[in-house]
Amino acid sequence: MNPEQRKEMVMDAFVAAFGGPPSVWSRAPGRVDLMGSHTDYNQGYVLTMTIDRDTWIAARPRTDRQVVIRSLNADGGGVFSLDAIAHDAHASWTDYVRGVATVLGDAGFALTGFEGLVHSTVPFGSGLSSSAALEMATATLFSLLGGWEIDPVEMALLGQRAENQFVGVNCGILDQYSSALGKEGTALLLDCRHLSSRTAAIAPGLQPVICDTHYKRALTGSEYGERRAQCEEGARLLGVTALRDVSLEQFAAREAALPPVVARRCRFIIEENQRVLDLAAALPGGDPARLSGLMAASFAGARDLYEIAVPEMEAMMEAMLTGPGVIGARQAGAGFGGCMVALVAADQVDAFAGHVQNHYLAATGLQPRVYPVQAAQGAGPL
Ligand code: ADP
Ligand code: MG
Repeated sequence: MNPEQRKEMVMDAFVAAFGGPPSVWSRAPGRVDLMGSHTDYNQGYVLTMTIDRDTWIAARPRTDRQVVIRSLNADGGGVFSLDAIAHDAHASWTDYVRGVATVLGDAGFALTGFEGLVHSTVPFGSGLSSSAALEMATATLFSLLGGWEIDPVEMALLGQRAENQFVGVNCGILDQYSSALGKEGTALLLDCRHLSSRTAAIAPGLQPVICDTHYKRALTGSEYGERRAQCEEGARLLGVTALRDVSLEQFAAREAALPPVVARRCRFIIEENQRVLDLAAALPGGDPARLSGLMAASFAGARDLYEIAVPEMEAMMEAMLTGPGVIGARQAGAGFGGCMVALVAADQVDAFAGHVQNHYLAATGLQPRVYPVQAAQGAGPL
């Protein structure tokens, strides 16, 4: 479906749902990390890239401070008043919208009610940040309806707060920052402590390709919190605010004194932070050996030190690394399945995708999804 067809489809669905056409459209993209797993909540660096898969909200304002929200990607929907925002027991996905309304209202932004229809091409729960895309599309919609502007960094922070406090997911700032501030055609080197970024050009001829394992472990959710707690303990034992503040040399000198699990987690984060800086430096030149080595080391650390890999991810690594035109490959998102990412010679993407599909399916019995992605502009009006 091209963008025009997609717009027509959402338009028709909106008219069917609400009896008239929408007058305001917002959009916000998903994203993939090219380097930097779990570094965001350690106040470190991430090499992030928005993707050309995004979340749209078509809307029509209401004058009665009611929000009526539905999604073409999820059942149910919700109606709530901006004057009394409660959690939704039936369609919990609307909590992302309710949460953003709550934090924007608390921050003093004037909110307007609306009828809205969500449509997204970002897969859910695969590590490409469909939740942040929904949050940033919602915040953008409120700004368009209210006729006010919001600094994109503040918008990202408020989205994170909505997810942390209202939805109850203890995520870092990476997803919202990327979705809000992404730039078309380039990766971003994000500094999660200073909430600043600079562009990191991707060498011409290098194509990022998403390889979705389609493996979703029934996570209890405890793994993420455990990793965070172990990093915090490591920082405390090392006497720093965050692992961001420790160099590899400093760490090596004190590593043996740490509990072994904590030491492994810290080593991964500290090494991964350095790899982010190294990959950002290498990406514009595109030296294949350098890119491949950094990405392989990232996966090895994720598997052996941070322990966020599952057998399906190993099978996907194998499929990606034996593919034609592959330059490098690693995990993406939080791990435990979900999407992975490869850098592939642009003229060999089709052959690469075919190879990965066959190879991974044969190894796991799971049908993966493999597709190239382009860096898209951050959240804004459609
Ligand atoms: P990720 O952000 O990696 O995709 P999350 O678990 O953080 O995974 O967020 C996924 C959740 O976000 C979905 O289960 C759903 O509740 C909500 N969500 C995201 N996009 C949409 C959408 N287009 N329509 C309805 N709900 C959505
Ligand atoms: Mg998310």
